[in-house]
Amino acid sequence: MINVQNLTKTYGKHQVLNGISTKVNKGEVVAIIGPSGSGKSTFLRCLNLLETPTGGTITIGGQELTSPKADVARIRQHIGMVFQHFHLFPHMTVIENITFAPTQVKGISLEQAKKKAMELLNKVGLADKANSYPSKLSGGQKQRVAIARSLAMEPEIMLFDEPTSALDPEMVKEVLNVIKDLADSGMTMLIVTHEMKFAREAADTIYFLDHGKLIESAPPEQFFTNPKSERAIRFLEQVL
Ligand code: ADP
Ligand code: MG
Repeated sequence: MINVQNLTKTYGKHQVLNGISTKVNKGEVVAIIGPSGSGKSTFLRCLNLLETPTGGTITIGGQELTSPKADVARIRQHIGMVFQHFHLFPHMTVIENITFAPTQVKGISLEQAKKKAMELLNKVGLADKANSYPSKLSGGQKQRVAIARSLAMEPEIMLFDEPTSALDPEMVKEVLNVIKDLADSGMTMLIVTHEMKFAREAADTIYFLDHGKLIESAPPEQFFTNPKSERAIRFLEQVL
C-alpha cells in the first residue's frame, strides 16, 4: 500500500532523513521508535506531504505522491493524521469538529455526517460529549475526538505522531485502547510512540530510526528480544 524508496529530507545542510526505503502492506500496523531528533516526525510528515521530501519516491496505493503531477489534496484525503497536540477547533462542539471536513471537503450532507459522527463517537466512548466544547474535555477525551474526527474522512491510512505524549498518565490507556481497536479492525497505520509495551502488543512491525536512517525493521518479538544493531540495544536499555 505504501512504498518508500530512498527518501531523503534535508533542512539546509542538516540531513534529517538519510535514504529510507520500506514497504507497508495493507492492514499492517507499524510502530516507529527511536531517539528524539532521529527523524520520526519528519518521516511521518513526508508520507502525507506535510513536508516535501528532498529526494526519493513515495507511492501510496499506486499513486506517486512525489510526482509533480500528483493530486496532493486528493491523496491526503485518504490519509488521516493525529498529532501529539490535538488541534481541535476550539470554537466548535465535538460533533461540529467531526462533521466539518466531511461536509466541507467531501460534500457529504450534514445529516449523514452527523450520523457517521455519532457512530464514531460511540466507538471512542464519547457519545455523551457530542455537544460539548473541547475546553470541557480532558486530554484523553480530546485525543479520542481527534481520532474520531480523522476517521470521519474514512482514511485508508492513519498516521499517529506521539498520540499519548501530551497526556497525563491515567489517560494514556484510554487512547491506546482506541488505537488498538483500530489496529485490530485492519486499518493500515504508522504510529510514532514511546509506549514500548503498546508497540510490542499492537504493532506487526517495529521501525527503529536513528540519525534519519531506518536501522531496523522487524516483528516486535524479534526486535525487543533480539535487536540486531548496537544502537537499538543501547536505546532499549534506556527505555525498557
Ligand atoms: P523526531 O520526531 O524523531 O524527534 P524530527 O523528525 O522532529 O525528529 O526531527 C529530526 C531532526 O530534524 C531534528 O534534528 C530537528 O531539529 C530537525 N528538524 C525538524 N523539523 C525541522 C525544520 N522545520 N527545520 C529545521 N530542522 C528541522
Ligand atoms: Mg517527533
